[in-house]
Amino acid sequence: MSGIKGKVVALTGASSGIGEATALHLAERGARLVLGARREKRLNAVVDRITERGGTAVGCVVDVTRRADLLRLTGAAVDRFGRLDVLVSNAGTMAVSPFDELRQDDWDAMVATHVTGLLNGIGAALPVFRRQRSGQFVNVASTAAYVVKSPQGVYAATKAAVKVLTEGLRQESGPDLRVTLVSPGFTDTEGVGKGASAEAAAELVRQRDAIAMPPSAVASAIGYAIEQPDGVDISEIVVRPTAQG
Ligand code: NDP
Repeated sequence: MSGIKGKVVALTGASSGIGEATALHLAERGARLVLGARREKRLNAVVDRITERGGTAVGCVVDVTRRADLLRLTGAAVDRFGRLDVLVSNAGTMAVSPFDELRQDDWDAMVATHVTGLLNGIGAALPVFRRQRSGQFVNVASTAAYVVKSPQGVYAATKAAVKVLTEGLRQESGPDLRVTLVSPGFTDTEGVGKGASAEAAAELVRQRDAIAMPPSAVASAIGYAIEQPDGVDISEIVVRPTAQG
């Protein structure tokens, strides 16, 4: 199956930013969506926008750090639409801070969300994809997976893990599955600087406001990877503002 129309896509981190823009992009092109995030009100607002415009989406409150929640997300796709074509693992948190601040809860949250969360998604979707003999993983990393900038050590490490896990998965996926890494640079979302230490947040927000690209740019890149014919795997996309060094 090529194109986006009719595909069943489960997407985490759909309540704002890149996930929200991706949901709207895919819905406009006829995908059937199962949208996951923790903030139910924000998630429902995205579902409502899509359905008001004639699209198809259902919401599913999930915390990606919980294995059972990802099983519910992929299960909802199969129950409602009979299959799952794509899992977009986009949920993330950019709570960056210098190591000296010892914000160990934030370190744990980034590991749990980006690494354990991704593995929870793989664990939930892979058996479905194997049964169907088709499916696609789209994993959202960051340019931080390629270049570490202070004070983003933990964030960058978890995003580098997303990159490595994605390549490992691709190598084992065989001819029926597709595995795509999408690494955005500065993107204009509310997540930039959220939960970060004061100085880091101020700098991130300054850079975002100066150079960021719109989240629709990342949504288009994800859509491009999804719309390729079955036998074509877009393995890796880095998409960043031209002004980002
Ligand atoms: P947002 O904060 O707008 O979006 C983050 C999304 O992830 C929200 O929908 C949030 O929903 C969800 N989320 C966070 N933690 C969890 C969790 N434990 N379980 C389920 N959902 C969760 O930021 P962005 O759109 O910018 O971020 C999206 C992704 O893009 C992240 O992985 C981020 O690291 C990555 N990225 C962003 C860049 C940028 O400049 N904006 C650059 C490079 C990468 P809720 O709180 O409702 O659960």
